[in-house]
Amino acid sequence: MQSTKYIFVTGGVVSSLGKGIIAASLAKLLQSRGFNVTIQKLDPYINIDPGTLNPYEHGECYVTDDGAETDLDLGHYERFLNTPTSQANNVTTGRIYQSVIEKERRGDYLGETVQIIPHITDEIKYRIMLLGQDNRFDFVITEIGGTVGDIESLPYIEAVRQMRFEKDKDCLVVHLTLVPFIAAAGELKTKPTQHSVKTLLEQGLQPDILVCRTEKPINESLKEKIALFCNVRSEAVIESIDTDSIYNVPILIKKERLDEVVLQKMNLPTQQKHDLGKWENFLTRLRQPKKNVKIGLIGKYVELQDAYKSILESIIHAGAKNNCKVDVELIHSESLNYENASENLKSLKGIIVAPGFGERGVEGKIAAIKYAREHHVPFFGICLGMQCAVIEFARHVLNLKNAHTTEILPNAEHPVISIMEDQKKVACKGGTMRLGAYSCKIKNKTKLSNIYRTEIIQERHRHRYEFNNEYLEKFEAKGMLPSGINPVNNLVEVIELKNHPWFIGVQFHPEYKSTVDNPHPLFVDFIKHIVN
Ligand code: GLN
Repeated sequence: MQSTKYIFVTGGVVSSLGKGIIAASLAKLLQSRGFNVTIQKLDPYINIDPGTLNPYEHGECYVTDDGAETDLDLGHYERFLNTPTSQANNVTTGRIYQSVIEKERRGDYLGETVQIIPHITDEIKYRIMLLGQDNRFDFVITEIGGTVGDIESLPYIEAVRQMRFEKDKDCLVVHLTLVPFIAAAGELKTKPTQHSVKTLLEQGLQPDILVCRTEKPINESLKEKIALFCNVRSEAVIESIDTDSIYNVPILIKKERLDEVVLQKMNLPTQQKHDLGKWENFLTRLRQPKKNVKIGLIGKYVELQDAYKSILESIIHAGAKNNCKVDVELIHSESLNYENASENLKSLKGIIVAPGFGERGVEGKIAAIKYAREHHVPFFGICLGMQCAVIEFARHVLNLKNAHTTEILPNAEHPVISIMEDQKKVACKGGTMRLGAYSCKIKNKTKLSNIYRTEIIQERHRHRYEFNNEYLEKFEAKGMLPSGINPVNNLVEVIELKNHPWFIGVQFHPEYKSTVDNPHPLFVDFIKHIVN
């Protein structure tokens, strides 16, 4: 294509309407027509990134190959498009202000008063167009976080207004709203949509397309009403009805011809055929499982599914691959101990122990792992989950009674998990963990080598603590093997048990790399082992 096209996705009425899923679904449809697409999220909060946010605040922190700690929507983007994102795909207000203030101190604006317009809006536009540089992408889809009308999102809407003015037909605004069903009246109501479009108009932005979230079908006459009140053509009023799976959204909005309307509005040809074969195949497997299994996910944020988003999605991908529906019971690690573990976990066909930070719930995780190890229940430990498996083995098999991680017990008598050398001098918390993709070399003739079927893998990390190699010989002697090692610094990245049907702990986060088109081999094998 001659020049990159920019699509903005804004949200109105309420939060949590699924802007990320709509952005990802539109991107998927454009990609399936042969276009090169990327998606970006602009987050209107002042943190530099979500890395320092509690998962209760903001759900999971998603990590990219280049080590950016990002919004969980980037996980959806990767899972839908099967292409990696990077730091450039997630920008926060904090980052925008940080770079403007750095420029001011450097003297880049000497003599000028530094203001929201033009300096902040210029920086926002620069971050958007960075992705369009060198025509790397045909489409850059930018999701504006928050809801229209929020004070925080004003500079972003203003930047979009300016870009629209400057780039005209190369820009397009999709506004996602809610059309609620009022049971007492028995009707769908369009007023909230009208109001949120008015708010956008007050800020100088006329949406081109309205995507309307709804529980019930929106008929033609309602679409015409919305079109009339909101200044859009009725074919540009797109229904987005509640559905059983986020992965069905591309199919639904394809029926509503969202991508076709986008292409028409941007004066682009529309005759390309969609290539959604793999996607549809996945959906069929998802919808027609031949088996059903229940596994447990042990963590401390069980009240909030978003905290383990990528793990839960990876399980869905792996389940579909195995023609199996996997029910996941989220189990609070604080509720478990050595006495009740067997009773609470006995109905599970497999156990995943989640990543995490800090002391809360760690002893419960260790109790669950002891149960899984002793009862030969398939076990998969991720990051802190792997570290807990090491501690459990040290305490109960190696008889190192006071084994611990120095994250929790800095002066542990047996620090089987300890702080990484290069983390010792780290003082600031933000963006300083071991982050992003690192190589791992897989040992021959291990469970791991059977699963990956390749020698060198790249997986993403987010941690400060590591297996303490001083104890390695003791572990190996008793059957806990380091089956994946970092080839540069010898850090143990994967452990597995010899005398156990499926017991693997990984220091990295495989869940960040599972996509619909490419389910992660570790999750696939874990579920495969359980169902067969
Ligand atoms: N808290 C542990 C560490 O920093 C594990 C981190 C995680 O599970 N992501 O090493």
